[in-house]
Amino acid sequence: MAKTISEPERILPVFDEADILVVGSGPAGHSAAVAASRAGAKKVILVERFNHLGGMVTGGFVMLIPHLSYKNKQVIAGLQQEWIDRMRKFENGCVSPDAKDIGSTDPELLKHWSSYFGFTQGGCINLSAYLDPEMLKVVLDEMIEEENGRIVPYMQCWASGAIMDGRNVRGIIIESKEGRKAITAKVVIDATGDGDIAAFAGCSYDDSTDPSLRISNLACCYRLAGVDFRKFADWKSANMELWNKKYRNEMRDLVGYGISLNATNRNDQCWVNTTQIRSCMKVKDLTDNDRSVRLSALKFIDYIKRLPGMENAYLLDFAPQTGTRGSRRIKGEYTLDKKDISSELKHEDTIFTVAPFLYETCDHPMEIPYRVMVPLDAENLLVTGRAFSSDMVANDAANLVPHCACLGQAAGVAAAISLQDGNSVRKVDVKKLQKVLREQNVYLPE
Ligand SMILES: Cc1cc2nc3c(=O)[nH]c(=O)nc-3n(C[C@H](O)[C@H](O)[C@H](O)COP(=O)(O)OP(=O)(O)OC[C@H]3O[C@@H](n4cnc5c(N)ncnc54)[C@H](O)[C@@H]3O)c2cc1C
Repeated sequence: MAKTISEPERILPVFDEADILVVGSGPAGHSAAVAASRAGAKKVILVERFNHLGGMVTGGFVMLIPHLSYKNKQVIAGLQQEWIDRMRKFENGCVSPDAKDIGSTDPELLKHWSSYFGFTQGGCINLSAYLDPEMLKVVLDEMIEEENGRIVPYMQCWASGAIMDGRNVRGIIIESKEGRKAITAKVVIDATGDGDIAAFAGCSYDDSTDPSLRISNLACCYRLAGVDFRKFADWKSANMELWNKKYRNEMRDLVGYGISLNATNRNDQCWVNTTQIRSCMKVKDLTDNDRSVRLSALKFIDYIKRLPGMENAYLLDFAPQTGTRGSRRIKGEYTLDKKDISSELKHEDTIFTVAPFLYETCDHPMEIPYRVMVPLDAENLLVTGRAFSSDMVANDAANLVPHCACLGQAAGVAAAISLQDGNSVRKVDVKKLQKVLREQNVYLPE
């Protein structure tokens, strides 16, 4: 049996009180806070354990926001589109095909964009964007600032417990340089990505994975500078067979895990993405993942210098956050599963649609119902972002950045409406939720 110690009971100071408390500031949490404020919430607190907002997109160097369109139709807009529009204003902030080219089958355009993973799919142009992670940090801060004090961000605070009153979540415990304190709230939105608050609150969840799925992998991403990515991409597409048979395998064998070279928002930089089958809920796995990537990065860079366009590559920076693709998935009122990605199910409470990621498994947009964020086992709590109620296959298909931003936006609006109407988030007026989401530029099926 594991050794234990007992902790004495303590009285904790209340650090602050919120109408809506959002925990975690990734695409889901940031969107939840902004959407709640814009839907009329008076005091939203946004808690984040690191020193910046954006979760994986800024801190994890996940630069690609893919699949906002399907064939010639945009399916995701809302706050996610706003990120892209704001980033387009910066020189080198964003690389993305023009909205007018969505669905185009023009061979010249397809050739131009094919070196960017995610910009072409099913033989046509797909609306996606590569964003600069550092500039995005600034944009995300600005969006909070523009809410004129209705959102109070607290960074460098780890949520380490839930404050419970029976089944009701009343707030969270935070650990910070100021010690252990409480934040209370009328509604809590768990946007930790890992369902931390739901787990602290005793909610049931599933964390099983299959090694063949993307979500069972951890990453430690890094960036290279001094490259000519277009030269590299052109060489690679002219030598695809050689790339697949020789270089891909040699690179993997050299470092001992999956590794790939990807585009970024700049031609002189390159995004190195890695995959190792490890759990983002285990300290040892998190430690070993990042260390193993750092320990092999320099020999990897030496190796790729033989490739056209990579001759002068050098290490720019490692992502400050470990790349976490999937972990706990709460048990909610609706569980998105395989049947959802292989049929055209309609829902009364649809909050957004997901463009097919892999055309082989699904060739139509999938509707996501509000109920995937409502946990079965606790009140006053919504679980948004990648911990939404889903089986592993559906989670793998629908937990990308734009999906999590849409989940977050819906969670924020739902929490604001529930407080205005005096309803629980479980019983939120779905028609009103959909109306406000449309007003916030979210695309919903008619
Ligand atoms: C290497 C990699 C490549 C990927 N590639 C793509 C891609 O190309 N395109 C794409 O769309 N998606 C991609 N994804 C997936 C995508 O990044 C995530 O699914 C998405 O970011 C999830 O959003 P989220 O807001 O739910 O969680 P996260 O982005 O993980 O954000 C969670 C936030 O909560 C904070 N937090 C967590 N626990 C606590 C706590 N206890 N207390 C306080 N704060 C806490 C974290 O610090 C973080 O800021 C990739 C993921 C990885 C790791």
